[in-house]
Amino acid sequence: MRDVNLVLIGPPGSGKGTQAARISARYGVPAISTGDILRAAVKAKSPLGRQVEAIMAAGDLVGDDLMIDLVRERLAAPDVTSGFILDGFPRTVVQADALDAMIDGCPLMALVLAVPEAEVARRLSSRRICAGCKTLYTGGTAYGSELELCSRCGGVLITRPDDNDVTIARRLLQYRQASEPVIGHYQARGLVVTVDGSRGVDDVSADVFTAIDGFRDGTGPVPPPSAG
Ligand SMILES: [Zn+2]
Repeated sequence: MRDVNLVLIGPPGSGKGTQAARISARYGVPAISTGDILRAAVKAKSPLGRQVEAIMAAGDLVGDDLMIDLVRERLAAPDVTSGFILDGFPRTVVQADALDAMIDGCPLMALVLAVPEAEVARRLSSRRICAGCKTLYTGGTAYGSELELCSRCGGVLITRPDDNDVTIARRLLQYRQASEPVIGHYQARGLVVTVDGSRGVDDVSADVFTAIDGFRDGTGPVPPPSAG
């Protein structure tokens, strides 16, 4: 049985976080997001963390070398015994090459959650956040209208400043520009499985699990039959 070495790729609003949590629970492998790594590094005040803090304080993006060092350190942690789910890494081909070297030729699957841009825009623009406790409501079922109140604290649900049309369009463009070369890197090695992420979360999970099972027993990566 292969380790679940998984790179999760998908636009904002594709449900990556939800699927990563479900994969983690089902296969017992840690879901590792670069956002979490950066926050943890800053909090731990490690030498790398101090570098991250200085870069973020200056408003700069963490570069390839530092990000690669942080991920290498994270993948050496004791909970990474039978695989990992990476979310947000690799973001560049340089990072993808570094990951290949880190896992030293072990099989890896790049799982792409494909969601049409119009659907992503619809999802992001319908997101609401509680003005009180900051709970994020991503589904159309969690609230009835903009005036509905938070089910946790009764606070008012508002649109996040980041979820306006202009910002959404820019984030989609950034995603496309960053992800295409990385997907191409894995496509050239036959490692990409694309799952139609525009459906309900349970349907998406079913295809994701089928793809991972195929990868684990060595018959995959193969695209699940219902994709598209
Ligand atoms: Zn609330």
